[in-house]
Amino acid sequence: MEILEYMSQNGFGQLSAYTDPKVGLKAFISIHDTTLGPALGGVRVWPHPTEKAAIEDVLKLGKAMTYKAAAAGLNFGGGKGLIIANPHKDKTEGLMRSFGKFVDSLGGQYLTAEDVGMTSRDLEWIAMETSYVTGLPISSGGSGDTSIMTGFGVYQGMRACAQAIWGTDSLSGRTISMQGFGSTAQALANQILNAEDNVHLIICDIDKTAIEKARSLDAEIVDKDEIYAVKSDIFAPCALGGILNSGTIPQINASIICGSANNQLLDERSSTEMSERNILYAPDFIVNAGGIINISCEVGRPYNESDAYKKTKRIYDTIGQVILEAKQNGCTTSVAANRIAKNRIRLAQSNKEDL
Ligand code: NAD
Repeated sequence: MEILEYMSQNGFGQLSAYTDPKVGLKAFISIHDTTLGPALGGVRVWPHPTEKAAIEDVLKLGKAMTYKAAAAGLNFGGGKGLIIANPHKDKTEGLMRSFGKFVDSLGGQYLTAEDVGMTSRDLEWIAMETSYVTGLPISSGGSGDTSIMTGFGVYQGMRACAQAIWGTDSLSGRTISMQGFGSTAQALANQILNAEDNVHLIICDIDKTAIEKARSLDAEIVDKDEIYAVKSDIFAPCALGGILNSGTIPQINASIICGSANNQLLDERSSTEMSERNILYAPDFIVNAGGIINISCEVGRPYNESDAYKKTKRIYDTIGQVILEAKQNGCTTSVAANRIAKNRIRLAQSNKEDL
């Protein structure tokens, strides 16, 4: 990937790099678009093997945040942070505080939050150096763990897809396969099991603790490489991105794909391939917007949980609109979702020009 070429073709504003050898910090922050407001996006801690892989990840994730906020009707732009480190071994107070200084140096153009590999303690360390932090624990004045609202939103997306395919939005009696059983997947599973009868869960993860949690819910456990081919009604990718591609899609034995992971499609061809195979794909940035919606209910005012649930519930209608527009325009759900997001940004741009 030619970085500047990729950035200019994809409408990027900025990519910042930061190192602090004293604490071993190597980090990037991408700011994709700030038409609707400051760029909001979590920071991911991940041991990418190369800088190129890390840059690709932080750019793609930043762009997805722009679309996510726009399609959810929020006044935020899109951005993302990435710390190249092993979340199980390398995180220290010094590392996190240093990342906080990096965030602060951008003067509020980028607001950070939790993402994969982060905990609320890490976020509190970051907040010692900058006020541009969202999603702090409720006890520290924030909106708390975003994964609960993310799980609730993905559940709304699943129900809307079920309505479109089966004529009922009940998931009772269905089999749902899940890739990854971390915080968002657990929140999603709890939502489903509390609301629906007789749902069979099939789960894979690469982490022993996550597997133990899945077993405690009576889920069937399969190996990570078997998850694509297991027969289920809904497949929920809830781990990392790029997992929907020409190698995995032919194996998928489910009618709906709807999960929390960001950037599930390796490329746009993947969404066409799913539609040719009659698999209904719920675009990730629409269904996993619950976390950012939750955060939007703390920025500039005291956190309001019931408002967050009310707004996240609208994901059901947005997915219904995406499916309808895809049908009417003969395009994939991914193209329809991108159009909805881009139209909102275009409208905001033209309003600004009108001023
Ligand atoms: P998490 O770290 O709590 O969980 C991820 C889980 O995936 C872990 O248990 C990990 O062991 C497992 N995993 C990693 N690679 C795997 C593989 N190859 N096969 C099976 N399991 C694997 O993270 P999370 O917060 O649940 O986030 C999951 C996804 O959802 C990420 O893509 C994240 O960006 C996205 N997301 C999260 C939120 C949020 O509110 N936390 C919001 C929107 C999107």
